Order: sequence, then C-alpha cells, then structure tokens
Amino acid sequence: MSKQNVNRCTFCGRPKSETELLVEGQDAFICNYCIEQAHQILVESSIPQSSSTPKGKIEFNYKPSDIKNFLDQYVIGQENAKKSLCVAVYNHYKRLNQKPSKTKGKNDDVEIEKSNIIMVGQTGTGKTLLAKTIARLLNVPFTIVDATVLTEAGYVGEDVESLLSRLLQACDYNVELAERGIVFIDEIDKIARKGDNPSITRDVSGEGVQQGLLKILEGSIVNVPPNGGRKHPEQRMVSVNTKDILFICGGAFDGIEKKIAQRINAEIVGFNSIRDTGKIDKDNLLQYITPTDLKSFGLIPEIIGRLPVLTFLDPLDRTALRNILTEPKNAIIRQYVKLFKMDGVDLDFEPQVLEYIVDKAIEFKLGARGLRSICETIMLDVMYEIPSKNLTSYTVTLDYAKEKLAHAEFLKHAQA
Ligand code: ADP
Repeated sequence: MSKQNVNRCTFCGRPKSETELLVEGQDAFICNYCIEQAHQILVESSIPQSSSTPKGKIEFNYKPSDIKNFLDQYVIGQENAKKSLCVAVYNHYKRLNQKPSKTKGKNDDVEIEKSNIIMVGQTGTGKTLLAKTIARLLNVPFTIVDATVLTEAGYVGEDVESLLSRLLQACDYNVELAERGIVFIDEIDKIARKGDNPSITRDVSGEGVQQGLLKILEGSIVNVPPNGGRKHPEQRMVSVNTKDILFICGGAFDGIEKKIAQRINAEIVGFNSIRDTGKIDKDNLLQYITPTDLKSFGLIPEIIGRLPVLTFLDPLDRTALRNILTEPKNAIIRQYVKLFKMDGVDLDFEPQVLEYIVDKAIEFKLGARGLRSICETIMLDVMYEIPSKNLTSYTVTLDYAKEKLAHAEFLKHAQA
C-alpha cells in the first residue's frame, strides 16, 4: 500500500481525521460511513421485490357480524361506520383468496374489486379507534399513516410512496405480506385542494399529493423507499404491487356540513319542493353525505372514485360520552380501577362524578378526547397520595372532582 493511502478510507478516500472509526484490513481501510452504507446495501438487497407468483390462502374465520361484535366491545355507537368496515374487511379477505379464473366464459370470470373506504366524522368520534381495533383481529399487516406529512415531490415532507414504507416495516419487509395488507390514512381531508376548481397555481399540500395517492389507490406497481421519507437516487427501491392492499381513509372534513346543507337545500328547492324538510336531522348532517360533497370540499373526482365505500361517524352525544367512560373493555374508568387495584385499593366513583365529567367534556367542546384529560386532572392528586396511605378503598366524590377541576381552571387562567 502506498504511503499516501495509509490512514485513508480505501472506499471513499476520507482521511482518518474526518472519520469516527477507520478499520484496517489486510490491504485496505474502511471508515464508519462506508461500513454503514455497505450495511444498508446488504439489508436492502435482501428484500424481495413484488412477486407475481400466486399467493397462499389466508385464513380468516370471522363473519361480518363477528367482527362487529368485537368492535362493539371497544367502540361505542357508530353503527353505520362499523357495518361498512366489517363488510369491507370481510370482502377484502374473500378477494385475497379468490382464485385466478382458468375457465373462460363461466361465472368465475367475475373478479371481485377492491372496495377502499372513506370515513367522515368529527375529530375524537372514533375513526382511528375503529381502525386500530379492527387491526387487532387481522392477520394481515396493518399500518396507520397521517396524510398531513405527505407532500408533492420537491417540497419538504414525505413522498406519497412512504405510506407503503410503513406497511413494509409493519411486516418486517415481507413484500408478499405487505401486498395484502391494510393501510389507514388519517386526516385525508388535509390534502383537499382549497376549492372545488382545479388550481392554476401549484397547490403544495393538496392536488399534487392527491394525484400521487391516486396512483397508489388505483393498484399499480410502486417503487417504495424502504425506510420512508424522500426517495433519493442512491437508495435501492422496493417494488410493491398495491392491487390487493385495502385502503381505509378517515377525515374530519371540517365545514363539510355547510356543503351538505347547501346541496340538500338546492335539491329541495330545485326538484322536489314537496319533500318534507322537517325530516332532516340538522344536528347530524354528515349522515346525508354523498361523494358530491367530498368533491365540493376539494377531493379530486378520481380519488373519490377510488374510495367507493363512503361512511360517516355520528357526533357523540351525552349518552355516548357517558358510555365511553365506563363501557368499553378498556374504558378510562376501568383503567383507573385497575391501576388502584394494583395498589390493593378498591376505587369507586360517585355516579354524579361521571355525569359531571361528561358535562365538562361537552362544555369544553373536547368530545371523547376531553374525557381523558378531565379525568387525569381530577385523579392526579389521588394517584399521587394513595400509594403512601394505607387505604383499602377510596371513593371519588363530586365535591372532590369539582374542587380539583376548579383549581386546574384557576391555574390555567392565572397563567394566561
Ligand atoms: P378520531 O380518529 O375520530 O379523531 P379517535 O378514534 O382518535 O378519534 O378517538 C380519540 C379517543 O376518544 C379514543 O382513543 C377513545 O378513547 C375515545 N373515543 C372516541 N370515540 C369513541 C367511541 N365511539 N367509543 C369509545 N371511545 C371513543
């Protein structure tokens, strides 16, 4: 080895002083950067690419009603969304197990198409909870991604393809498994374009991302950066066929009620003035949502066409909020009871306390999301003190709950 090359990485030429580690071999040196890069190449080359070979049968022994019974244990209400999800997931498995037809002209030429879903509902009404709960039942890879991080190529953010990276990561880069997985895309409304009309100027967050997403939803072979983020030239891509991946999208679509109301009014005035407007439930306009409203909100028609199952979540009323506190298998109150039980304390709540928590959640307009933070505020001091006291039971009274919450509100105002 020439003197010049001593103490330099043989691969990239960096001098030792610019490396963190320089490993010496028989006739060569390698620095920590080249070791890392070589390792990455090794990992990526071991990922198999999209395969066109027929895949094995996937066992799934639940009927739609079984799936719903399972969801009912964790999610309160939301009958419509639950039914749509159960049927879509059930059909997803049927589709995965359909055999490619050999006999032409017979009925089995019929190919079951994918029915991606879009769920519309205010935040905190259970969209993510539904998706997460259903994932527990499944034996296909499942991932939740947030549409807000996706941007058009060339802008700060992640490429649309990166949502498939997450799916690959969820199944340890087993492409065959990922190609039959389920992706939940949250906050899909955040990539709506700003109006009903195609934009003239470039719309960073909206239309470009929708176009990118369309390609994935449609079912095509997509080159995916295995580690997510932006694609870059040195990275080896993994090709994934999205034909059999089920996409479930969710979004709050703030303000879409106005568009629904406008459409309903136009229909009534325009075509059918006899129709009884009294029957329309103005407190829950989302139940009348149609694909047209999604278009008015700013989703491009092609995307809407690829999300054929449109369902909605009901706003959570008093009764629903009250039930959420105590009924689900891992209801908030049950969690506190369990925590206290671990310290040998039987925890109990005066029934009025639960009503009070619901009142406050409604007052703060926090929906189900607020229940937890209100409970935490009330319970903090008890959770701090109880383990040091020798108690076997404890009851949270209404006076105590009021005092704790009033104190927290006072602190908040004082800080503001
Ligand atoms: P979204 O995705 O619609 O914004 P989430 O599913 O994240 O709302 O709900 C936030 C939290 O509120 C959940 O973790 C859960 O504790 C509670 N929650 C919301 N809706 C329901 C429901 N229908 N049944 C039970 N818990 C609910």
